[in-house]
Parts: sequence; structure tokens; C-alpha cells
Amino acid sequence: MKKHNFSAGPSILPQEVFQKSAEAVLDFNGMGLSLLEISHRSKDFVAVMDEARAIVKRLMNLGDGYEVLYLQGGASLQFLMVPFNLLRINGKAAYTDTGTWASGAIKEAKKIGEIDVVASSKAENYSFIPKDYSIGSEYDYFHCTSNNTIYGTQMKTFPNVDTSLVCDMSSDIFSRVLDFSKFDLIYAGAQKNMGPAGATLVVVKKEILGKTGRNIPSYLDYQIHIDKESMLNTPPVFAVYVSLLTLQWLEKNGGISTAEKRNEAKAKLLYDEIDRNPLFDTFCVPEDRSLMNVSFKLTDENLKEKFDNAWKSAGISGLNGHRNLGGYRASLYNALPIESVQVLTDVMMSL
Ligand SMILES: *Cc1c(COP(=O)(O)O)cnc(C)c1O
Repeated sequence: MKKHNFSAGPSILPQEVFQKSAEAVLDFNGMGLSLLEISHRSKDFVAVMDEARAIVKRLMNLGDGYEVLYLQGGASLQFLMVPFNLLRINGKAAYTDTGTWASGAIKEAKKIGEIDVVASSKAENYSFIPKDYSIGSEYDYFHCTSNNTIYGTQMKTFPNVDTSLVCDMSSDIFSRVLDFSKFDLIYAGAQKNMGPAGATLVVVKKEILGKTGRNIPSYLDYQIHIDKESMLNTPPVFAVYVSLLTLQWLEKNGGISTAEKRNEAKAKLLYDEIDRNPLFDTFCVPEDRSLMNVSFKLTDENLKEKFDNAWKSAGISGLNGHRNLGGYRASLYNALPIESVQVLTDVMMSL
């Protein structure tokens, strides 16, 4: 039986995407060859890369000023590539520290130049999203993390800043309607909501590049990846193809706005049960609750064994919380059906 998969990442993808990617591994486009054994410069794969880049712009409603790249190294390498490409020599950048990933981005950026942490919820164990700050033009860019995969908080709005707006959207990309044209650079590891591990999406507004005065190593230079149409070297062909299938599934099923409605319904179902049931609680303030990663805990630790046995026997997988926080985490990514959330809330109700 197929499990109800709440894993935080790598995570659930649409079943039809698994099916189609399995077929492509055996025989791609009826070529008599596997997707995995053809040249990335072949016509068939170039078409995959072109469409994988184009569909992102369509879904995000972005124009010619933006470029889409599929890189390797995960979101973690973007922690470094962002300052390399956007931070001027002797310039400075502003960051918010809203969780483990945000603080990882800060740590790496500090190795490149001057970073101001303009707002942080670290002292309160990342239980809220700080909102009270302003960013002026003295900064080369402002970096934020839209969704805190571990602590279960999410930015509901984004500040108006007087500089480039950069966002790590790894765990909520394509989950809700946003004005993407407000952002100058968006990045995301594919493995949370748009594909398998191995590809990293970067969407960048071209006009912000080339201003740092740095001699950027080629592999870390967005402009070189843009010039090479995301094929500077062998791209992660399988991860790009499966990401394309996932985004095609999204587009076919009504795009981001329909996904957002499904995600809101799933999150409401689960948060309503957490709020109703005295045996459960979240870690964060209600107004900043994430629609994607619902981190929660038992109010009575003595019930742990009983609850763990109950959800496991209900066919649920991937519900354990992150090691930094403990408790439980239900990740409600686009591909998770609401039926799986219903199974979980039924287990919670009967505890
Ligand atoms: C998972 C995650 C990362 C790390 O992604 P990798 O692709 O494993 O490097 C970074 N930021 C956020 C918000 C994440 O959820």
C-alpha cells in the first residue's frame, strides 16, 4: 500500500510523475534509449531544459527581464553564490534570521563580506517572523527565507525594500500566489516542492548582475550560467526532467492558484484539529503558521508511544520532527492529497 508521506524533503511528488519518470529511465521519448544515457546536448534533452526553464517563467508570470537556471549544489550553495554575485566589494547586505536555514545563509555570506542581521527571532527559538525593520539603499541586497521548514513559520508578506530582494523559497516555492516580479532573485532546492534532490532552481532578474567588481569563479557566476543556458557543464538531467514533469503536473492542474487553495484547505484541516485537541500544540505564534510545514507537539509526552504507533499503523510516514526541534512535522507539499491529512487528523482525534 502507498504510504501517506509527510516527509519534509526529499518529499512526495505526484504519483503520475513517478510513473512517467520511471518510463523515461527505461525508454525516453520512444528513442530506444534511457533518459540517463543520452547526451545532455542532444535535441531531446535540450528541449527538456528549455521547457523546464520556460515553464517556471509562465507559472511565475515573469517577463524577459528574468532568467531561470537549474544548478547543482542545493540551496546551500546559493548561500554562497548570492553574496558572490550581489555583494559589492566593501558593500554590505541585510539578512533576517528566522530559522536554521536563514542562519546558515548568514554564516556563509559572512565569509564573503559584511552582513547585517536586521531582525531575528533566534532568542525566542524562531517561534515567530520578525516584521519590524526597514531596509534602505545602503544595502546591496536584502535576503529572507520565505518558509521555515523546521520551525513551521512562514512569511505572509514581504517587505518593500530599497534594494534587491532575494529569497530562499526552498520549502514553499509554487505553493501560493505571490507577485514574483517583486523579487530580484529567488532560489530553491527542488526536493521540497518541485522535484527530486539534485537540481536547484534560481530565478534572477538580469539587471542586478555584474555590479560587484568581483572576479567571480566561473562555476559560481550566474551570468556565465545564463550565457550557457544552464548548460555550463553536464546538468543533473534526471532531476531537471522530473522537475519539469512536476511543474507540468502543476500547470495542468490549475497552476499555483489552485495549488494554493488545496494547500490552504489541507493546512486548515490540520491546524483546526491541533487547536481543537488539547493533546496537541504548535511551536509558533498562530499568525505566522506555515501552510507547508506544520510543526507540532504532544502536550503530554507520555502519549508519545501511543501516538507514534497509531500514525504508523495508519500508513503514515515521515512525520517525525526535525532533530533541532523535536515533536512532529507534517509537510503538506503540493503533491500531498488532502485525504492523507484526513487520515492524520483522524488518528489525532482518536488519541
Ligand atoms: C531544505 C532547505 C535548504 C537546504 O537545501 P539543500 O538543497 O539541501 O541545500 C535551504 N533552505 C531552506 C528554506 C530549506 O528548506
